[in-house]
Amino acid sequence: MDIFKKTRAMFHLPEGMTYLDGNSLGPLPYAAQDRVDAMMRDQWGEMLITGWNKAGWMEQPSRVGDRLGKLIGAETGHVVLGDTLSIKVYQALASALELKPDRKVILSDSGNFPSDLYMAEGLIRMLDRGLELRVVAPEDVEASLGDDIAVMMLTQVDYRSGRMHDMNRLTELAHKAGAIAVWDLAHSAGAVPVDLAAANVDFAVGCTYKYLNSGPGGPAFIYVAPRHAEVVNPALSGWLGHASPFAFDLNYKPGAGIERMRVGTPPVIQIAALEAALDIWEMVDMADVRARAVELSELFINEVETRCPELTLASPRDAAQRGSQVSFAHEEGYAIMQALIAHGVIGDFRAPDILRFGITPLYVGEDDILRAATTLQEIMEGQLWDRDAYRIRSRVT
Ligand SMILES: *Cc1c(COP(=O)(O)O)cnc(C)c1O
Repeated sequence: MDIFKKTRAMFHLPEGMTYLDGNSLGPLPYAAQDRVDAMMRDQWGEMLITGWNKAGWMEQPSRVGDRLGKLIGAETGHVVLGDTLSIKVYQALASALELKPDRKVILSDSGNFPSDLYMAEGLIRMLDRGLELRVVAPEDVEASLGDDIAVMMLTQVDYRSGRMHDMNRLTELAHKAGAIAVWDLAHSAGAVPVDLAAANVDFAVGCTYKYLNSGPGGPAFIYVAPRHAEVVNPALSGWLGHASPFAFDLNYKPGAGIERMRVGTPPVIQIAALEAALDIWEMVDMADVRARAVELSELFINEVETRCPELTLASPRDAAQRGSQVSFAHEEGYAIMQALIAHGVIGDFRAPDILRFGITPLYVGEDDILRAATTLQEIMEGQLWDRDAYRIRSRVT
């Protein structure tokens, strides 16, 4: 049997819904529901506080972090889970900056997710040592890697267009310029093949609730390269990143390696959900997932361009430069997406004019792609989007 038929059957997908938004929030794996249910009853319920030892809750962030690490080519013992991605961006950036005390510039690009840039702004203000955040166009990153750059902080796949940076090449160029490379893999982990060790990346961060399907509020992850793991000095020096948390020392002493990137109590229930979701990832080969995603993306682009000439492709046409999403632009994009959702096809909208569709082969097939394209055609041809109700902006778009 086609492996993707098998994986699709492992997700709860609402009746009658085509879901092309797994790049924003992955669907529920049945196993996650069962795992969390059992974990709550047998561990939280029965063991209470003793679960930290008996059920291994304390090791969970690095144990499950290592399982996730395999998907992104991380060396064993160099990924830990916890907090949210914004927090992990702050941690990685603070540690990277500390490795380059004589340089003043953080280089990023305008395709980065705003939260990453906001966290950099806040950190710069706190450090108060004349640091600058330099945001250039994505295509200008390479030319901007001068000898003043302390840290190159980029998100590999642009959340709006899906444009993908060449991580290996830019990391190499950053190192040549004497800079540290921090990569955000929010739209890469579980979306495209990533090999952090081969790319020689210094720090990487990402979230698990998008392509990895850990559920809303699922923990983020952070990777620190082996050459830095025992050197970095955590800015968020919480007790669980301490060398011996239960010694209750009054002074902070960083824990061994990646353990020091922990901050406080881990989200045990949510990590249990992630662990069940990772079982599905271990059934597939990332290269197969990528090949299937490219196939489905090409089909979607062809179908939408043929059926809906008013929509403009807003993603790179070359699959090699695209992550696992396809975006189209239209000035009425918000209303069009609301109409599409009302017709059972879920994508999302990103200001100012982007209709975004996540292509996630674990549970999306050709039938979904064709349904999305034909529904979009009906909406465009019949101007079904042109209703006041579809223009009301919700809090989350
Ligand atoms: C989704 C996303 C975030 C979200 O951060 P949270 O702290 O998990 O809310 C941050 N950065 C990027 C690049 C993202 O794609």
